[in-house]
Amino acid sequence: MVHYPVPAHESIMSLSPYVGGASSVKGAARVIKLSSNEGAFGTNPTAVEACRAFAEKMFRYPDGGSVELRRAVAEVHGLEEERIVCGSGSDELIGLLCHAYLKDGDQVVVTQYAFLMYRLYALGCGAVPVTVPEKDRRVDVDAVLKAVTDKTKIVFIANPGNPTGTYLSRDEIERLCRGLPTNVMLVLDAAYAEFVPSSDFDAGETFVRKYPNVVMLRTFSKIYGLGGIRLGWSYASKEITDVLNRVRGPFNVNSVAQAVGVAAVRDREFVKKCFEHNLKWQEIFRKELPATGLNATPSVTNFILVDFPSEAGKTAAEADKFLQSKGIIVRAVASYGLPDSLRMTIGNDEENEALLAALREFMAR
Ligand SMILES: *Cc1c(COP(=O)(O)O)cnc(C)c1O
Repeated sequence: MVHYPVPAHESIMSLSPYVGGASSVKGAARVIKLSSNEGAFGTNPTAVEACRAFAEKMFRYPDGGSVELRRAVAEVHGLEEERIVCGSGSDELIGLLCHAYLKDGDQVVVTQYAFLMYRLYALGCGAVPVTVPEKDRRVDVDAVLKAVTDKTKIVFIANPGNPTGTYLSRDEIERLCRGLPTNVMLVLDAAYAEFVPSSDFDAGETFVRKYPNVVMLRTFSKIYGLGGIRLGWSYASKEITDVLNRVRGPFNVNSVAQAVGVAAVRDREFVKKCFEHNLKWQEIFRKELPATGLNATPSVTNFILVDFPSEAGKTAAEADKFLQSKGIIVRAVASYGLPDSLRMTIGNDEENEALLAALREFMAR
């Protein structure tokens, strides 16, 4: 037993730190990293240019209000800049919402395969995560509504979900919004929104405008390919925005991230290129995976959740090892309660071809 001279809250001691996707394989010269849903095309060249151009100005403190960045995001998305808060990744915003709204004993509703950070931040605040089963790896709106009690403060929904890749339609989210008490916050984490091709999907803008208890979260880590810069934003009512501005650090978004974010969000060509590449490969995987004998959950994101047989030699754990021997890193999702599946990010053409070839070889062994 480790002795902690200054004891932390028991709720904090009950959580295990988040472990991100692996990025290296022992002995592999060339690594294909498909474990963290990062962009298929690397860093956007426009963002690289903005970063270089900004380098000399790093001695200045950042703009504490991220004014230019919020303006750019608002213009591009047709939103009101005064309802936007920027954060050091959407991660920080999840943490700030928990910090601002949760106290000991409050409940937070999360779904069966929810992104692990919701639970971790909630526990960190002494709150109790209440887990609701999903149906066929999709969020079950009725089950979520049924789990709400008078202790519930926040409902977290990743839409689309990670690691499932499935989504709830506009109508389903509307039903969820209508069914929730107005003093319960609904956080719609739309980290993968830009990849969704479905016309009945709404990332959350509509609901934020209609319901003052709804928050939409967005990130620069996925389609923008800027995970390393740590940048995300929230869109919410004036009241929730005010609360977030009270609890965030005065300079929570560094100046380089702000400069890079402005350039990236205005570069719609890059976003379009990533979207189209992703759609093309989702279709290829939809055809090619079944031909290898594997099934995947239908995904609207830049990753696929692939299920493996339970027979010895063909399991997810063995597939993971086999892929690693080829230098391909995917994401084991046993920690999400999916021990028979692997989550694979859609990479560039060459990486996807290598992944498909390796999966074919694994299944044919
Ligand atoms: C990747 C991801 C995020 C983004 O986190 P950042 O902190 O912005 O990098 C948020 N939510 C989900 C569900 C994700 O998969």
